[in-house]
Amino acid sequence: MAASKGAPDLYSQFLSSGPGAFIASKAGLPRPENLRRYKAGEPPLAGPVLIGGKGRLVEPLRVLLSDYPAAQAHDTTFGALVFDATGITQVTELEQLFEFFQPVIRNLASCARVVVLGTTPEETSSVDEHVAQRALEGFTRSVGKEIKRGSTAQLVYVSPKASTGLSGVESTLRFLLSAKSAFVDGQVIVVGDEDSVAPANWDKPLDGKVAVVTGAARGIGATIAEVLARDGAHVICADIPAAGEALSATANKVGGTSLALDVTADDAAEVLAAHLLERHGGADIIVHNAGITRDKTLANMDEGRWNMVIGVNLLAPQKITEHLVAKGALKEGGRVVDVSSIAGIAGNRGQTNYGTSKAGVIGLVHAEAPVLAQKNITINAVAPGFIETAMTAAIPFATREAGRRMSSLLQGGETVDVAETVAYFASPASNAVTGQVVRVCGQSLLGA
Ligand code: NAD
Repeated sequence: MAASKGAPDLYSQFLSSGPGAFIASKAGLPRPENLRRYKAGEPPLAGPVLIGGKGRLVEPLRVLLSDYPAAQAHDTTFGALVFDATGITQVTELEQLFEFFQPVIRNLASCARVVVLGTTPEETSSVDEHVAQRALEGFTRSVGKEIKRGSTAQLVYVSPKASTGLSGVESTLRFLLSAKSAFVDGQVIVVGDEDSVAPANWDKPLDGKVAVVTGAARGIGATIAEVLARDGAHVICADIPAAGEALSATANKVGGTSLALDVTADDAAEVLAAHLLERHGGADIIVHNAGITRDKTLANMDEGRWNMVIGVNLLAPQKITEHLVAKGALKEGGRVVDVSSIAGIAGNRGQTNYGTSKAGVIGLVHAEAPVLAQKNITINAVAPGFIETAMTAAIPFATREAGRRMSSLLQGGETVDVAETVAYFASPASNAVTGQVVRVCGQSLLGA
């Protein structure tokens, strides 16, 4: 199944018209690239990969990426530049970044990928190495802001205790070096030391898995259900009883089942646990996507709005996860994926309730990761930025336009961009990835 593609927004339509393109080039208006998104059978990258660096990962990296077309430094177009910076232990050695990237950075294909691999600063063995490795963040995020035409830059920190077979990093690299990460930009992902087993088929990593998606009737949740089903999972689509028809439509579309469930109901966790154990012997994946906004400035906020948002967005995911784990309704080796928001990172006017709830979700991910690790369960969050949905269509025009354009990719994302990131976390091969928050925001200036 090809990933969904929404209609371009009005500004993008204007730019792709003859007169629009002319005016834009004369006036120097920002020109959002039509982002390359995943389609089954298409190559993951828009060109060959150039690998560089002198660290402990570079040789295993060449083996791991041996099924990607390899580039030479003198090539004129690159689909990706991947640099192993784990050998950098002193600030002066950061010059290696300049030496590798500067001559080739102009030659990126559109929608190319830059990935820097480093050593997790907290796990380095000296102050100098910690400083040098931490510096990689500023480099990568700045590169993300400079490269154009839909290209993205990310930093992956790898535990020094990880085996150099690199298998624990493979799912992260395959995600970042593909069209699935089209709207993920300027992110830092920390990968732990566990080894992973590659799925039999990277296009169906969730074969045989059972997933629950809350808020699946529409918007981002409906697309998450589609993408998890595309990857092979049986998806239980949950939403409030009033969502009835839309929920059945999603469930039918993805060949899954629907479950009427208000996540804030007193017995929601018990009902879900019983459903999963009786019908499926437990679930492998739960995605807490159900979320609401009830915007008012704090001065105008009432208690009802405050409590409703905290209840749906924060209390429910925590209570449900804890209960499912306690009852074994989320199996050992399971995956919890929460949906936060860049409003939970940067704050947002009129959203004290929402920002509180979404920052709390990040706290949940950090606090629960070590606890759930005892059962080999991972917990991670996506933090979407401006995504084209019914929620964002309701934002006043000027704010909406600012939200779209104030990012490195100069456009809003699509629901599929969030869904692909959820699917990456949900993969069995992502077992070394936990406690992470990945923004799906096109490197939005908000919260940067
Ligand atoms: P949406 O309003 O289109 O869909 C939300 C779904 O959640 C609806 O189907 C709704 O019925 C369901 N829901 C609400 N309360 C529920 C409850 N108590 N129990 C069960 N289901 C419930 O929203 P969306 O834009 O698709 O957002 C999905 C998630 O992404 C939310 O958590 C939202 O906060 C987050 N998010 C969205 C954006 C964006 O740009 N759209 C940005 C950042 C974060």
